[in-house]
Amino acid sequence: MFQSTMMEGELTIAALVEYSRRVFPEARIRTWTGEGLRDASFSEIGDKAAQLANALAELGVERGDRVATFMWNNNEHQVAYAGVPAMGAVLHTLNLRLSPEQAVYIINHANDKVIIVDASVAPLLSKYLTGTPDVEHVVVANGPKEALTAPEGIAVHSFDELIDGRPTTYEWPEIAERDPAVMCYTSGTTGDPKGVVYSHRSIWLHSMQVNSSSGMALGNADSVLAIVPMFHVMSWGLPFAAMMAGITLVMPDRFLQPEPLLQVMAEARPTFAAAVPTIWQGVAARLEAAPQDISHMREVVVGGAAVPPSMIRTFDGHGVRITHAWGMTETSPLGTVSRPPFGIEDPEKEFAYRVTQGRFPASVQARLIADDGTEQPWDGESAGELEVRGPWITGAYYSPDGPVSEEAKFHDGWLRTGDVATISPDGFMTIVDRTKDMIKTGGEWISSVELENTVMANPTIAEAAVVGVPDEKWDERPFVLAVVKDAADADVDKQRAYLAERVPRWQVPERWAFVTEVPKTSVGKFDKKVIRAQYADGAYEVVESRS
Ligand code: ADP
Repeated sequence: MFQSTMMEGELTIAALVEYSRRVFPEARIRTWTGEGLRDASFSEIGDKAAQLANALAELGVERGDRVATFMWNNNEHQVAYAGVPAMGAVLHTLNLRLSPEQAVYIINHANDKVIIVDASVAPLLSKYLTGTPDVEHVVVANGPKEALTAPEGIAVHSFDELIDGRPTTYEWPEIAERDPAVMCYTSGTTGDPKGVVYSHRSIWLHSMQVNSSSGMALGNADSVLAIVPMFHVMSWGLPFAAMMAGITLVMPDRFLQPEPLLQVMAEARPTFAAAVPTIWQGVAARLEAAPQDISHMREVVVGGAAVPPSMIRTFDGHGVRITHAWGMTETSPLGTVSRPPFGIEDPEKEFAYRVTQGRFPASVQARLIADDGTEQPWDGESAGELEVRGPWITGAYYSPDGPVSEEAKFHDGWLRTGDVATISPDGFMTIVDRTKDMIKTGGEWISSVELENTVMANPTIAEAAVVGVPDEKWDERPFVLAVVKDAADADVDKQRAYLAERVPRWQVPERWAFVTEVPKTSVGKFDKKVIRAQYADGAYEVVESRS
C-alpha cells in the first residue's frame, strides 16, 4: 500500500499546556474581583497546572479518574482545565445552577473522586456532599477551606496550600488522543441531564476550529471576555482555544449582572466576548440607561439560543458586531457560525445572512430529516430535524457501563439534534425551533422562536418567551410571557396590534402575561419547560384579548 510520509503525533492537552506556557508567556488569564483584575500569565497557569497535577497525584488521582470543578470562570478554574486533563484524569465541569437533585445525580453518575470548588459556592456544595458517598476530596479555591462543611470521610483542602511549593513541572503521561479529557452534562432543558465525554483529539480539533476564520477567528492580539460559564460546554471551547493561540481571557468570576459586566468591559477593554442572548439583552438594557462606549469589542459571538434580529441591530448601533453561532453540549459545542459570504455589499442582504445560525465547518456534516424519514434538500425552505456528525460530535452518552447510543438520540451514526432547521443552497442553516417547542395550532405549525423574535422586535419589550399552551378549539395556541420596559406598555391590545402588522393574523397570540423576569435555565436560556408548567399551575396573571 502506498503510504503517507507524515510523522505520528498525538493531539493532547498536555502538549497544549506546554506549548502555551513556552510560546505565549505574555498572554494572560484576567479574573474580575469586583474591584479590579487579578492577572496570571500563561507561564504561571502552566506552573500551577503542574503543581495541581503533582498534588492530585499525591491524593491518589489516577488516569481516567474524574476531577470535578464547581467553579466560576477564573484563574484557578483555568489551572484545573490545564492540569487535570494533561495528567490523564478527566475534568468534569459541574453546573453551579443545577437543582440539588440534579447536582447529586450528576456527581454520582460521573463518579467524581475529587471536587475543586470556589469558596463563594462552597456552602452550596456542602449541602450535596451528604448524598455523594464516592467523593474523597474537596479542594477549596479562592477563600478559606472552612467555607465548606463536609461529612466524615471527605478530606477538605485549601487549593493554595495544596499546590504551593510543589514542583512546577510534571511528567505528563503519554496519552492516546482518543482518550477522555473532559466531561460535561447537558443542562437538561428537555430531559434528564446526559453526560458527554470529550477526547483530547476532539478538543484539539475543536480549538483549531474556534480560532479559524470561519469560527471565532481569534488570535494572539485578542482579549476575550468569556462570559459563557466554564461549566457551559467548556465556555464554548475558549479555555483551550486560548492556550492554542495565546488569547488573553477576561473572566468575570461570579459578577455576571449587566452592571459589573460593563464595569469589567470598561476596565479590561476586551476585543471580543461570548455569551447567550439573554445576557446581551440585559447589557443592552443597561446601556440604554447608562451609555458606555463598548466599541473596543470588535465582535461578540452569541449562541446557545436564537439571537433576536433586533438585538443584532441594537449592538450594531453600539459599534459591536454580533456573530450568531449554534451548538450543543453534544457538539463541543461549535456547530455553525454565521459569517456572510464574501463580497455582499448590500447591508440588508448581509443582515439576512447574519440572522441565520450560519455555516458548518468542513469537519461537521449536516443533514435534514423530515418526519417521514426522507432527507430534505438544502433549498432554504424545506425543514427537517437537523442531524450532524463529525470528529467533535458525540456518538453516544456516558454511562458507567460504557457509552450508550440510544435510538431516540442517534440515527445511523448521526446525532439527532432535536432542532428543526432549514439550510440554504449556500449552506446557511436557520433553526426554526426545537422540535419540542414548535406550536401546533389548528393543524398549522408556529415557530415559537420566530414569534418571540417578532415580539422582541417591538422596542417596548425587554424580553419575551413564547410557548404553546392547550386550547380547546385549536389544540394549542401561543402564549407570550413578556417583560416590558415601561409599565404603560403592558397592554395586550397594543402588543397585538404591533404583531398583527408583522405575522399572519392566525399566529397573533391572544394570551399574554407581563412579568418582571422570564424564567431561565441553568445556562441562561428561556426555560420553556418551567413556563409551560407555571402556566398550567395558574402562576401567571394571564390577560386574554381577541380584539
Ligand atoms: P440544553 O439542550 O440542555 O439547553 P445545550 O446548551 O446543549 O443544552 O443546548 C443546545 C440547544 O440549544 C440546541 O439544540 C438548540 O436547540 C439551542 N441552540 C443553541 N444555539 C442556538 C442558536 N444560535 N439558535 C437557536 N437555538 C440554539
